[in-house]
Amino acid sequence: MIAPVESFSKVGDGEEAYPNAATNACKLCNPLGACLAFRGVKGAIPFLHGSQGCATYIRRYLISHFREPMDIAASNFSESSAVFGGASNLKAGLANVVVQYQPELIGLATTCLSETIGEDVPGHLRDFGATDAGRSAPPIVSVSTASFRGTHADGFHNAVRALVENLVPAPLSEISNLRSPIAASGAPLALFPGMASPADLRELKRLVAAFQLPLTLLPDYSETLDGPSWADYEKLPSGGTPVAAIRALGQARGAVEFGRVLAGAAHTAATVLATRHAVPAHRLGTPMGLRETDRFLDLLASLSGLPLPTDLATERGRLIDSWVDGHKYVFEKRALVYGEEDLVVGLAALLTEFGIVPVLCASGGRSRRLAAALRAAAPELDERTVIREGADFADIAAEAETLKPDFLIGSSKGYGLARKLGVPLIRCGFPVHDRIGGQRILHVGYAGAQSLYDRIVNALLDRKQEDSSIGYSYL
Ligand code: SF4
Repeated sequence: MIAPVESFSKVGDGEEAYPNAATNACKLCNPLGACLAFRGVKGAIPFLHGSQGCATYIRRYLISHFREPMDIAASNFSESSAVFGGASNLKAGLANVVVQYQPELIGLATTCLSETIGEDVPGHLRDFGATDAGRSAPPIVSVSTASFRGTHADGFHNAVRALVENLVPAPLSEISNLRSPIAASGAPLALFPGMASPADLRELKRLVAAFQLPLTLLPDYSETLDGPSWADYEKLPSGGTPVAAIRALGQARGAVEFGRVLAGAAHTAATVLATRHAVPAHRLGTPMGLRETDRFLDLLASLSGLPLPTDLATERGRLIDSWVDGHKYVFEKRALVYGEEDLVVGLAALLTEFGIVPVLCASGGRSRRLAAALRAAAPELDERTVIREGADFADIAAEAETLKPDFLIGSSKGYGLARKLGVPLIRCGFPVHDRIGGQRILHVGYAGAQSLYDRIVNALLDRKQEDSSIGYSYL
């Protein structure tokens, strides 16, 4: 019998059960997510208002995953900035960046320090805009990203929302906001994919193109963070969503936003387009696994008026066939799933489709929406699944002692625990720091489900062979 989610979820007491002190956090710094999102805008440079060390940490984390250069400017707080405020550092830093990089956009994120001392960033930017240096500057989009208030996923989503809020011009009047059917027919679809890999972004573009829909993907770091080798160094790598395309999103034919946890948030990029510009919002789960991908492709079919293309229908059929082939190897295996909340939801949806039991779904996020999102995406979950919000790796390790997973799936930050437990780790999401190719891991669509499935089955077979005293060569 399937128990209602409430009977097994331990969510709801997350704030009390897990105090803010963390041992090896299962989340990352808030402005890191914002820097990643800003990297997906053409000609943009991320800029941190705070200490140099924050920029260095974030650069190290992103470079070690994407294996690409990642310049992040900073206002370089000194001791006196921390005491008297960082306005002059911010203005000098912005002026330098304008001269040295000539960016098309500056994405400004705050750090814990500038948030703690209560910096008036909008006020500083107004002052900067009034000077000669400010008048020659490109658009500056700022976002508040204190890590003591959120995770890297929050920083990412808030930066995307800030781009839409700041760059899409407000409608002149309610009448001018009425979009003509003729204009809408050639208008792009706005797609907010969330924290996807560059490989995912390319796959999403392929899926939308299969339905012949024009697309504005925001952000799009599929090239800026996974491009071909350069003949000459590029300070700002090519690729990314053009600022002009973001400005035009008020006329989009629809806005698709991924993330069942995100869908519980009232204020997002899609809701801004819906409330201010009457753009129809479609808030879906991240298309991981068969059902969530079906939902996304059904929407594309309905928006385009075209049926599912034959090659995608064939991919879907192959995926189901592979599940039949490998069923005996995965059925009732126990998975420990961790990471950003919407990644956890997507992975759980995928795993349950081919008979794996996610015995622990854990995230450092504290949205209080994880359990409901899991229930919607993976209705097969039963009392064997423990759900943890606000968890760190010490909490996850404690749960693993009794849950006895067959494998872990999530970022490379789980490697120490996997090694201690003696079980395989399927690396996915962000960050992957102990392998190459993190940026090429495919999660979405039928192709992403196929790739993850093959990796999971083969990791389990590999372990079975290693654990055997005789060794099997025919499984
Ligand atoms: S101090 Fe805050 S903003 Fe800076 S690196 Fe640490 S968590 Fe991130």
